[in-house]
Amino acid sequence: MRGAVLRSLGDTLEVRDDLELEGPGPGEVRIRIAASGVCHSDLSLMDGTLPHPLPCVPGHEGAGTVVAVGAGVTDLAEGDHVIISWVPPCGRCATCLGGQPNLCTALGLGSMPAPHLKLADQMVFAGIGTATFAEETVVSASAAIKIPDDVPFDVASLIGCGVMTGVGAVINTAKVRPGSSVVVFGCGGVGINVIQGAKIAGAAEIVAVDLVDKKLDWARQFGATHAVTPDKLSATMAEVTGGLGADYAFEVIGRPETIRSAWDATRRGGTTVVVGAGRMDAQVSFSAFELFYSEKALLGSVYGSADVRTDFHRLLRLWRSGQLDLEGLISRRCGIDGINEAFDAMKNGEVIRTVIELA
Ligand code: NAD
Ligand code: ZN
Repeated sequence: MRGAVLRSLGDTLEVRDDLELEGPGPGEVRIRIAASGVCHSDLSLMDGTLPHPLPCVPGHEGAGTVVAVGAGVTDLAEGDHVIISWVPPCGRCATCLGGQPNLCTALGLGSMPAPHLKLADQMVFAGIGTATFAEETVVSASAAIKIPDDVPFDVASLIGCGVMTGVGAVINTAKVRPGSSVVVFGCGGVGINVIQGAKIAGAAEIVAVDLVDKKLDWARQFGATHAVTPDKLSATMAEVTGGLGADYAFEVIGRPETIRSAWDATRRGGTTVVVGAGRMDAQVSFSAFELFYSEKALLGSVYGSADVRTDFHRLLRLWRSGQLDLEGLISRRCGIDGINEAFDAMKNGEVIRTVIELA
């Protein structure tokens, strides 16, 4: 089988034809991947920002067709079209039953704990549990969310991470109220979907911040009312919020300094949401005084606080009704052979998302 392998931190991906995939075992399904988006978390896994066992096949934003089901799987069948969830909700633990299935750890991250991939007899881990940069993958059945057959795989794949994370951070984590002011730091594949989510939620002002002019153009196209480089932010915030700060600020980069900027751009009593995935050893400082006196809420957001079993369908309905643009997120397409150039395009700020077409 063909797939892209990361051997050591800092390497580029090696496209191989001789990957072997075992399974599905009981409770698992085997999926032929049709399309996979390229998310910044894959890059963070490759450069060591996010710790991950190696070697691995990265990719965690994918959609495809079920080609085999393991023993005991009753709600999926061969031929079903699915979006892959990188957090499979077990549906039975206290976290799932308590309404936070995005934090379920009962099944690990997909098949991460029990690798199904091999390369010349060496065990290969599934990146973020899903390994969507390969022709086929094996995941827990609860990581495969069935979707209607008429949804194109390219747009479906993006729901698997960037769209769910971005829109979900707004509508699930922050629960933005109509008429609010919102500021978004980082307008990449996830941040653009925070902007789309804020528009859907009825935000009155949406201020987008990015270093790259092209990203600011895209931000306006997807619903930002203001789009500026960081040096222009304080003047814009003074104009938009009268210097009070925004009701909600979203950090979608994963760096201490931009988390701090998002906090500073939040009004007293407002909400700061950290979506960006930063390093485990990176520290952000807040004074003891400001934490209480500002009465700001500081919220983390994992996978858009989603219940993927219902939220993937909610997003598809927003797309069908014309309120969520998924086609417009795809700036670039290529086969698996173009995977390293796809990461270069992300690093150079040239794309919202690249979609890797596998089948
Ligand atoms: P991306 O590379 O597509 O976008 C990042 C954007 O931030 C780029 O447009 C870049 O120009 C901009 N940027 C970088 N430094 C900046 C700065 N100092 N000021 C302003 N803008 C700056 O990345 P993405 O795929 O959108 O992912 C964004 C972050 O979200 C990453 O950290 C990723 O790992 C994380 N993520 C988190 C979750 C979650 O569950 N919380 C899920 C998916 C991705
Ligand atoms: Zn992702």
